[in-house]
Amino acid sequence: MKPVNHHWIARDIIGGNSALDLVNTVSGWGYDPEDWVPDVASFLVWARMSGVLDKRETEQAARLIESSPAAERALASVKELRFALWSLVTSLQQRKPAKPSDLSVINEWMRRLALSEQVAVKRGKIDFAINRDISVLELPALRVIAAARSLLKNPPAGRIKTCPGENCGWKFLDQSKNRSRRWCDMTVCGNVAKARKYRARNG
Ligand SMILES: [Zn+2]
Repeated sequence: MKPVNHHWIARDIIGGNSALDLVNTVSGWGYDPEDWVPDVASFLVWARMSGVLDKRETEQAARLIESSPAAERALASVKELRFALWSLVTSLQQRKPAKPSDLSVINEWMRRLALSEQVAVKRGKIDFAINRDISVLELPALRVIAAARSLLKNPPAGRIKTCPGENCGWKFLDQSKNRSRRWCDMTVCGNVAKARKYRARNG
């Protein structure tokens, strides 16, 4: 996979769920994939922007990565999770059986999540929060797997879509009323396709 130092902007976060947003740190799944988080620093930019780390946690993680080889390992294991999520969601979309290797990666993270969650009561409401002792380097993957769990528990049939844009392949939750969303971003992939159609008709 080609590493690309992508400049993340808020508009890149279009998945509607952190698990899909993690999948979307690769552009061109199934075509000519580019890895848009080639290093830990770029991963942290994405993590902050997608909301899987808050500001304080991101600063803490940034301090840690300077000295810790654990950061590289954490990134490698996030990427393993990313691939498993992409592959599982793709098989669900195509109504194909899930691959045991994907399920085993996802189940390992589910176990870690179960071990790290605790019940807290916030303003009279029950909240399942991740234990504060967990390293900030592990937090993004745990929050992604928590998001994946809610996505997959009640799979919104027909609402997980893949952008058909050329060399895109991003996945998103279509939350439009009539399930009509086609593109990751109309101004990025949608307009390119429209322009091509227009040229084909008129050129
Ligand atoms: Zn797209």
